[in-house]
Amino acid sequence: MSTAPEIPNLMEAIVSLSKRRGFVFPSSDIYGGFNGFFDYGPLGVELKKNIRDCWWNDMVRRREDIVGLESSIIMHPKVWQASGHVAGFTDPLVDCKASKQRYRADQLFFSAVEVVNPEDNSKQIIGYVSALESENTAGDLQDKAESMKRKKAVRGNLVTITPRDMTEAKPEEIALIPSPATGEPGSLTEPRAFNMMFETHVGALRDESSVSYLRPETAQGMFVDFKNVVDTGRVKIPFGIAQIGKSFRNEITPRNFIFRSREFEQMEMEYFIHEDADWAKSHREWINWCKSWLISIGLPESHLTEYNHPQEKLAFYSKGTTDIMFKYPFGVQELWGIAARGNYDLTQHANASGVPHFIFDEATKKRYIPHVIEPAVGVDRIFLAVLCGGYAEEDVTDEKGNVEKRTVLRFNPRIAPVKVAVLPLLKNKPELVQRALDIYTRLKRRYAVFYDEGGAIGRRYRRQDEIGTPWCITIDFDTIEKDGTFTLRERDSMQQRRITEAELFALLEEAVY
Ligand code: ATP
Repeated sequence: MSTAPEIPNLMEAIVSLSKRRGFVFPSSDIYGGFNGFFDYGPLGVELKKNIRDCWWNDMVRRREDIVGLESSIIMHPKVWQASGHVAGFTDPLVDCKASKQRYRADQLFFSAVEVVNPEDNSKQIIGYVSALESENTAGDLQDKAESMKRKKAVRGNLVTITPRDMTEAKPEEIALIPSPATGEPGSLTEPRAFNMMFETHVGALRDESSVSYLRPETAQGMFVDFKNVVDTGRVKIPFGIAQIGKSFRNEITPRNFIFRSREFEQMEMEYFIHEDADWAKSHREWINWCKSWLISIGLPESHLTEYNHPQEKLAFYSKGTTDIMFKYPFGVQELWGIAARGNYDLTQHANASGVPHFIFDEATKKRYIPHVIEPAVGVDRIFLAVLCGGYAEEDVTDEKGNVEKRTVLRFNPRIAPVKVAVLPLLKNKPELVQRALDIYTRLKRRYAVFYDEGGAIGRRYRRQDEIGTPWCITIDFDTIEKDGTFTLRERDSMQQRRITEAELFALLEEAVY
């Protein structure tokens, strides 16, 4: 049996399955697609909705201390000035003047190619090499350096490559670094700040005064409505405000399928704590919560790690940020960021709006601005993680001894787009079909189920395996003539046993919550 990490071209397999079975399509596909935008097909919307629902249930409904919010996507431009996004929500951009390609400077790596002369130990730089960030950036640069040395027929030993990104390039180096598009030096520009917010105009006038932004994160909605939520009287410190919704970033290099897109969906929660509370403890509790939650929807624990942002790279107001990383086929990447943001955001909005944002402490009779812990995650990144973590290709042997390949998505039943497929053994037997349709109708009231009567039963099982359906039930003559039981076939073990309808409902009740 081979499992996900060993499958070569896993991303290709996932992109192709996503399109073929209706999980994800490129946006505007018939017009050639639109870079950085995607559509979710019939199965994709179900999977995405299940991810959102699980998060909402666990984060909001099943807790006493967190309430929900849905703020508008376009907010007053002053929000984004106060939050710092207008001035600072930028990525460093490098242009290639020859090819008109654009790169994120922190994702474009380079190195001088240095050779040591064995006779006198003198060092000589024979050129520069560059490579786009990949799982093996250092290796790519090393290969290019070796090929440069061969081409230039230089004698001596190469100094081991230590990649630097373009934000670290000295001005005199920039002209010497080859563009990844052309392979030639001389066309790359110095990095400059590129604001990632999408601008639009609100109202009939199109001038400076009407410029507004599509939100680049949902979080500011929670800060701006903080006072409104507190005034409803439903919450007491510590408490959280949660929101799920679309965010938009004009990413310079959208890539890796839905991992980095320009329109995406976030699930964010702002957890407000007392200014004197132990923020590090709360931060740790939220990291643990997020990790357990990811495991509860089926992500393999072995693929999850933590990355602590180094102190010197944090914003001045930030006390600490930890990312939960997932091992995607293209490398270990950020899935969920958990940030301790102090009271920066509320303070900024209080100052900019002139509306006080205090909480009154009954014990000390003092007012204070609460601090916040923010777990922020992208739905699309979870979606991709469950596809990557659940995908497997296996050799299976049928009753006749034939070996064939099966593709299976091992979705946890909580998020599986289809929970049960109902299959009458034969489609030309009206009594089987009728009984199957009866059960299907009863299941459909509560669960996403699928009815399929076409083709050999083995083939129908495979079709369900490929879309991650945890169970199939087959209605046969015993169902009608004997005890009403049917065959339950389990996706992962492929084992079959007979159960009653009541037992099936009990099984679903336990597994789908
Ligand atoms: P990155 O460093 O990958 O650009 P970030 O640190 O800027 O991400 P945050 O601003 O912390 O991301 O956003 C919170 C979460 O939103 C991320 O952890 C990620 O899951 C998701 N996210 C951010 N940008 C994108 C994007 N362009 N496409 C899809 N999801 C995204």
